[in-house]
Amino acid sequence: MTHPPLWSLAPLLGFLMFVASACGEASQLAETDGPKAQLVFDTDSSVSRFDSRLVESTAKAARDYYAKELGRDFESEVTVRITDDDGGDRWLGWSAGRKLWIYTGNERWPDDSSIEAHYLKENIVAHELFHNFEWSLADSIDGDSDRLPFWLLEGGAEYASAHYLAEIYEVDWPDMVAYYKVRPEEASTRLEDVRVGTPSDYSKAFQAINALMGDRPLRDLGAFFEATGRTEWDDAFRQTFHQDPAKFLDAFEATFE
Ligand SMILES: [Zn+2]
Repeated sequence: MTHPPLWSLAPLLGFLMFVASACGEASQLAETDGPKAQLVFDTDSSVSRFDSRLVESTAKAARDYYAKELGRDFESEVTVRITDDDGGDRWLGWSAGRKLWIYTGNERWPDDSSIEAHYLKENIVAHELFHNFEWSLADSIDGDSDRLPFWLLEGGAEYASAHYLAEIYEVDWPDMVAYYKVRPEEASTRLEDVRVGTPSDYSKAFQAINALMGDRPLRDLGAFFEATGRTEWDDAFRQTFHQDPAKFLDAFEATFE
């Protein structure tokens, strides 16, 4: 299983100048084969109508965005559990296999209607939902995250989520990348050694995926996760990105020295 960091500790985004109404417009899938797998919402009655609608619209829109960009959609039903639980007071979201949890009872889940609060919630939902794509692409029913390193799973989810948010908020990609800036003093732990990440570990994982992807389309990241369903992750990495993962990480870590 896997999860986002304690996002409320992150600085609020200075570049969000757009109204929240820009969000939640579901786009049509570019192409689908057969019936569309359902996205099911299982919502506690005590969750506010605002939050349930925001989570639902974000999950639908992010799903359609990912499906369009990846050229692949969910092949089986995914359940979004919107709960007033606090998630053990650690996480705002959690994802495993074909299910994800959004913890609106967590004290860090914002209760105001600011644009920053709106963005944070969308980020959590879009991040968690991409994990479901990671497992769906790899055809992994249980979402066994131990098969893949933290930086690929979490960096991948945050990278995909950032692309989705950049599109709907009309943020230029260099500005989005700057938001995830990691100071060298925060980057002392090598990514391959991270198991449970701090917020700066998530930013660093995002930067690694961004460096890896360059101008590649999101579809290539999907192809990588798809390949992890057929072979070990490091072989999938070489097949997709045509480089050795250890050498890539060495070069990436060197940029923080
Ligand atoms: Zn995560």
